[in-house]
Amino acid sequence: MPAEIQSSVGYRGANRPDDVIIVQRLLMQRGLDTGGADGQCGRRTLASIRTFQTGFLRNPDGRIDPGGTSWRRLVGSATAPVPPVTPPAPADGTLTRLLPRPDRSTMNPGLVAVSNRYMTEKLGNPRNSYTQDCQSMTNERLKRHVVTRSVGPFRVTGLRPAVDSLQTVLDEVNQRHREVYTALGTAGMLCCRLVRGSTSSISNHAWGTAIDLKLNGLLDRRGDNNIQYGLALIAPIFNRHGWYWGAAFRTEDAMHFEASQSLIEAWAPALGA
Ligand SMILES: [Zn+2]
Repeated sequence: MPAEIQSSVGYRGANRPDDVIIVQRLLMQRGLDTGGADGQCGRRTLASIRTFQTGFLRNPDGRIDPGGTSWRRLVGSATAPVPPVTPPAPADGTLTRLLPRPDRSTMNPGLVAVSNRYMTEKLGNPRNSYTQDCQSMTNERLKRHVVTRSVGPFRVTGLRPAVDSLQTVLDEVNQRHREVYTALGTAGMLCCRLVRGSTSSISNHAWGTAIDLKLNGLLDRRGDNNIQYGLALIAPIFNRHGWYWGAAFRTEDAMHFEASQSLIEAWAPALGA
């Protein structure tokens, strides 16, 4: 649990340096760019607070008050009445054992899933046309930000800030759930295609901001409303870093995690869109 702030931080806040540092660190943990944790509530910190608030406030006010809604969201306790997804260990202990999907409203606290329109507005369109098959990215500006590298348990190709963030997430998975970390594999990140079964929706894999995970080589079957236990264990870590879990999609897709709106908002300026 982080230290409490003593007074308000942000727009027209008291902005005590000690409080500002606490807020900056929490925002950075969520992948937002505050320009560091320097105790000064500057333009980037203010923008990060507003970006963070867009996930749950209709009119972000840019301020974090002690004990207020934004503070509780920031420290992850705003959804306290609803337990996070931490299922009990299954009797046989295997990570790929299936559990029923939890209530969708309990998943992805504080995060907003991105629409195609939002992604296209913020980052541009990766291609002009799509099919059900993976095709290459043709958007030259976006392509400059695609990287391939190891994020720990496997190599991925994706959008640079998403790969950076994924590395941070997986480092934490390694610290907290080493048994899951060592079982993790991937079924891919960047892949310009439509959502499976759709003739019009572009998959967020097209931007390289989504990742599909495997446990011990097994994929979680999409749409069966069951989730692999190991994925449920690590989903809260992805969530804390701003990654939205596909288990909450209308058609359950538990192997899928993607950058939520607050991350895309924070990354877009550096990607030149
Ligand atoms: Zn996926």
